[in-house]
Amino acid sequence: MTEIIRTRLLSKNYGLTEVVSNVNMKLGRGEIYGFLGPNGAGKSTLMKMLLNLVKPSGGEIELFGERLLPGSIEPLKRIGHMIETPVFYEKLTAEQNLDLHCEYMGHYDPKAIREALERVQLIGIEKKPVKQFSLGMRQRLGIARAICTKPELLILDEPINGLDPSGIQEMRQLFRSLRDEYGMTLLISSHLIAEIEQVADTIGVIDRGRLIKEVSMESIRNSKTEYVEIVTSNVKLAAYVLEDKLGAKNFKLIGDRLIRIYDTALTPEQLSKGLIINDVPVESINRRHHSLEEYFFEITRGGESHASSY
Ligand code: ADP
Repeated sequence: MTEIIRTRLLSKNYGLTEVVSNVNMKLGRGEIYGFLGPNGAGKSTLMKMLLNLVKPSGGEIELFGERLLPGSIEPLKRIGHMIETPVFYEKLTAEQNLDLHCEYMGHYDPKAIREALERVQLIGIEKKPVKQFSLGMRQRLGIARAICTKPELLILDEPINGLDPSGIQEMRQLFRSLRDEYGMTLLISSHLIAEIEQVADTIGVIDRGRLIKEVSMESIRNSKTEYVEIVTSNVKLAAYVLEDKLGAKNFKLIGDRLIRIYDTALTPEQLSKGLIINDVPVESINRRHHSLEEYFFEITRGGESHASSY
């Protein structure tokens, strides 16, 4: 797959604080990549470095196979973006804002502007001044501005902020159609898993400036997410029996009453029998599924892990 973005040991310091730390990421053509991380994780800063809006403190960036240098202009013409809250000419209409942007970018095409407004469902209000727009409408206009030049790469920072549930659904469809119809590559950030898990092909989990996991959604969906959960008043004894008597290799203690066992070789029946004959007080034993939310929570927060299941 052709690489559209590649970073090597990309870092950014503000004063003594490293807000982006040695990030190695890659994004192939036609991929939808979701940056997932809490507020303050470094997502916007990373995106700004990709757009030459912020100067890296270390490392390098390649866009479309070429090294990005402080004076690079050409790669930026091939990128549409919306970073943080989009800023507009408030007294001009939505359409005039897009006209101006396209002229400035050297891609003036009234048909493409109309198409972009249609795609984000702003047709009918395109002649209204932006100062009358709600947060959600501004967000849509920001996306229209990012796509009206038909860029090869689209970088959107929290694009779903301020949208209602139906707007979120429309945006997901829009992102997929931009990839499927125009072959665009998309980099999208969010602090909410639910917002991007349904749209991203690959998720990069970023926490305190570090890219801690880059994983395809397909492999997450196919990964083992089943486990057996035991509630007991004696987790220490249970852990000992699980490991030494029953041969469990992959289990996790959660707090002081819960154990999750990921070994598929052991059925709940075998587990409950094995624990009871070894005098472990078992209050309940159930087969459960991991939600994607739990998966990401564990990646970012760790947890008291006996053996990693990932
Ligand atoms: P995210 O987009 O994931 O919410 P940001 O990239 O906006 O995170 O911010 C990462 C960290 O960098 C935060 O702690 C933020 O306060 C800090 N930061 C961002 N921009 C600046 C700046 N211009 N000067 C100093 N610190 C900054």
